[in-house]
Amino acid sequence: MTRLTPSDNVCPICGSDNHCAVAQSVAVSECWCDTAVITDETIGRVPEELRGKVCICPRCAGPKSAQDAEPIISK
Ligand SMILES: [Zn+2]
Repeated sequence: MTRLTPSDNVCPICGSDNHCAVAQSVAVSECWCDTAVITDETIGRVPEELRGKVCICPRCAGPKSAQDAEPIISK
């Protein structure tokens, strides 16, 4: 395997696509996480060995950023 491991673009909390710009070869300044506020509580849900290495998804990042990233949510 010379490609990214699956975990590079998969949320370590829920296993969904994390939409990370880095994993998609887009500038990190374009990534949703650049403006997202991720709480210590959320970070605490990430397995310790993956912290700082793998992005979580907008949904797990918190209600605020999830709403910003996914305007589809109706309620
Ligand atoms: Zn997630």
